Amino acid sequence: MMAPSVTVTFAGSGDAFGSGGRYQACIHLRPAGASPVLLDCGATSLSALKRLGLDPGEVAAVFVSHLHGDHFGGLPFLILDGQFSRRTRPLSVVGPPGTARRLADTMECLFPGSSGVSRRFGVDVTELAPGTASAVCGVAVRAWEGDHPSGGPALILRLSLAGRAIAYTGDTAWTGAISQAAVDADLVIAEAYYRDKNIPYHLRLADLAAHRDEIIARRVILTHMSADVLGSEDDTGFERAFDGLTIGL
Ligand SMILES: [Zn+2]
Ligand SMILES: [Zn+2]
Repeated sequence: MMAPSVTVTFAGSGDAFGSGGRYQACIHLRPAGASPVLLDCGATSLSALKRLGLDPGEVAAVFVSHLHGDHFGGLPFLILDGQFSRRTRPLSVVGPPGTARRLADTMECLFPGSSGVSRRFGVDVTELAPGTASAVCGVAVRAWEGDHPSGGPALILRLSLAGRAIAYTGDTAWTGAISQAAVDADLVIAEAYYRDKNIPYHLRLADLAAHRDEIIARRVILTHMSADVLGSEDDTGFERAFDGLTIGL
């Protein structure tokens, strides 16, 4: 069997509230022969990574979908863990406009004095506006605007690395941008917060089922599920993530 080009590990596949005992959003992507990167880094991510034996010190970049604690709140812990483990490898953070300020504010709030400390490694923040693209640590990234207020724009991300394309909805109500980000992707990671409860700014199983034909991709895996979804029999046939799920692309 051929080795995968990218190994995807769902370190955290939960919502903000620990539903099902799951860790918050943290998806670990390891391109063959290169350093791993994260898609989102929720507040619990350091524990989620270490539980699976994934070394946080190896992480070269974190791509943040939006500035809610269950998606970016783990960054202060990741950065401080690097500081205390004598990390020297630089860390890149890519997120929506406002990321640098919100990260500094969060560090200062959780660990006063930590935002201005000089470290053996740099933390380089790239702010990515919706509709733009960039390349960081060998990963090409494009961003579309999601419908999910978080003190800044929410991003729907498409990452291209090691010849594979991965689209990630983050948290958002359904928008045609999801279809655009997903076109011909090897994997789409989609929020599925509730089954069909009318809840604003989030994707539901019902939305994904209704728009299934508009998601043209090789594989779709659901994440960010509440107890409502976790406790239900899924009749939509979508594949579901769990903490520790590892797949090769
Ligand atoms: Zn959110
Ligand atoms: Zn969330």
